[in-house]
Amino acid sequence: EPLKPSNFLRQVIERDLEQGTYAQRKWAGHPADAQEHQRGEPDPARIRTRFPPEPNGYLHVGHAKSICLNFGLARDYGGVCHMRFDDTNPEKEDQEYVDSILDAVKWLGYSWDANGTSHYYHASDYFDFMYRAAEYLIEAGLAYVDEQSAEEMRHNRGDFGRPGTDSPFRSRSIDENLQRFRDMRDGKLADGAAVLRAKIDMASPNINMRDPAIYRIRRATHHNTGDKWCIYPMYTYAHPIEDALENITHSLCTLEFEDQRPFYDWLLDRLSEGGLINKPHPRQYEFARLNLTYVITSKRKLKQLVDEKHVTGWDDPRMPTIVGMRRRGYTPESIQLFAERIGVTKSDSWIDYSTLDQALRDDLDPKAARAMAVLDPVKLVITNWDEIHGAGFLDACSAPVHPHDEARGRREFKFGKELWIERTDYEDVPPKGYNRLYPGNRVRLKYGHVIECKGATKDAEGRVTEVQAELVPDTKSGTPGSDKVKVKGVITWVAVADALKAEVRLYDRLFAVPQPDTTEKDFHEELNPDSLTVATAYVEPSLASAKGDEKFQFERHGYFVADRKDHFSTLVSTSERKPVFNRVAGMKDSWGK
Ligand code: ATP
Ligand code: MG
Ligand code: MG
Repeated sequence: EPLKPSNFLRQVIERDLEQGTYAQRKWAGHPADAQEHQRGEPDPARIRTRFPPEPNGYLHVGHAKSICLNFGLARDYGGVCHMRFDDTNPEKEDQEYVDSILDAVKWLGYSWDANGTSHYYHASDYFDFMYRAAEYLIEAGLAYVDEQSAEEMRHNRGDFGRPGTDSPFRSRSIDENLQRFRDMRDGKLADGAAVLRAKIDMASPNINMRDPAIYRIRRATHHNTGDKWCIYPMYTYAHPIEDALENITHSLCTLEFEDQRPFYDWLLDRLSEGGLINKPHPRQYEFARLNLTYVITSKRKLKQLVDEKHVTGWDDPRMPTIVGMRRRGYTPESIQLFAERIGVTKSDSWIDYSTLDQALRDDLDPKAARAMAVLDPVKLVITNWDEIHGAGFLDACSAPVHPHDEARGRREFKFGKELWIERTDYEDVPPKGYNRLYPGNRVRLKYGHVIECKGATKDAEGRVTEVQAELVPDTKSGTPGSDKVKVKGVITWVAVADALKAEVRLYDRLFAVPQPDTTEKDFHEELNPDSLTVATAYVEPSLASAKGDEKFQFERHGYFVADRKDHFSTLVSTSERKPVFNRVAGMKDSWGK
């Protein structure tokens, strides 16, 4: 295992482990912790991170960075990463999303089970505790029920240049606040009629510290707690409590939460003063979110692409969702490698999409079986074949499954009078430096014979319909003396006799501009109209046994995957059943061109 490059988070963790920051940590008393404690194993001192999605959409490549980071750090430092659904929002949260999120995390290669204990949590399980903590804040004079209108509240909060103004409700007595908060809980106030606010400092230069709202009234059925509550905690209040109850040590979030950190610390300090949570507290650390060129990662806008049918679904291979990337053919290992290479930083930047493709190539090159495929086929006829071998003769050829691993065996295929070659491998008049087929030139058909081009037949529009060539005798690859005839060009091919017809989906970038959705322009106008080209290709017979999701290197063309859904799909009629391959990435970077 190569040494992972250090970064500021690794440094923080290493320092905490060295200094024993969490050595004196007590169990939070959370049910799952108690279970772990009973088993007498993992001590609470080890690091704990968490991945806390809201189950309100499909995960994307940005989430993948967060997953690799949180689960990866826990793994590397012998800690635990909690899988937590941040479901404090009663608004539509779907089981479909929950399932797909769990699936994505597992597929990426991570687990929330450690030493036989599951670390799978729902923030909504802490609603009782959060309520109790809110009453504690009121009793300590640290929170009040504000009944200003939303507009008044917004105005009185001030802005960057203007300090806020105290609410007339700020000086209410503790008893009155407690009564009003219970009225909120008991459904005696209308939605939006009041909020509970932390009492901090209306003149703070950090607007987040100007008495942030911590509870609101919202009559909505929650998927976990049903109609038990008509008040719900705000994210900024809920999140530090969730972290504290789960004994999280390092709470990693994206940079836009930096201004929330003072409130995170303020709240946990107050709650431990009140004896509600233990020390040492979890600490929040911010890292730059992932911006990947040629894609967008806004959940709302990705949903628009699906709803408006610009793509075929959440798992369309062009989508930057984890299900999309999976179907496109990216491997969990390539995504982990990508996450490691981009690292974590404290400032926002754009990561070039080619970084992801390079990670894919580096992962697949040593693994993927090779195959020949002709994506834009034109027929090649060997005019002296019958003369040399007799009509109908098929020669047997073979090639290694993997060029660096003979143990993986060989692929077998035929060579005959009629072959499929790439249309671009023939030119009447060769451009400078062109070593492939043109009248009079000799090339090697890879793993086959050397041929000499004689010309081509064209249709009325001048399009080549057939290329003719003569076999150069005694040049079959792998036979003695076969390399005596020197040629500059080598081309790929498949025999008409045993090639398999396949649908090949050539995917390109989803957006035509490197930083979509960053200008005034509507992002729809920035979509790449040519993000998908469907080709009818001929591929070598060894691919007849390809399983859905299996990856290959099509020689010269790049990395391809048998489509998880459509490859030999049994959902269509037998006559329509066919091999379907997606292009994951080309052989080398062509994104910049
Ligand atoms: P929403 O916009 O609906 O709040 P979100 O993108 O913040 O969605 P969450 O489900 O809240 O998604 O995210 C779960 C975790 O993934 C969070 O910790 C968040 O910081 C992280 N995350 C989301 N987007 C990115 C990104 N582009 N880069 C890195 N981390 C991300
Ligand atoms: Mg969020
Ligand atoms: Mg977001």
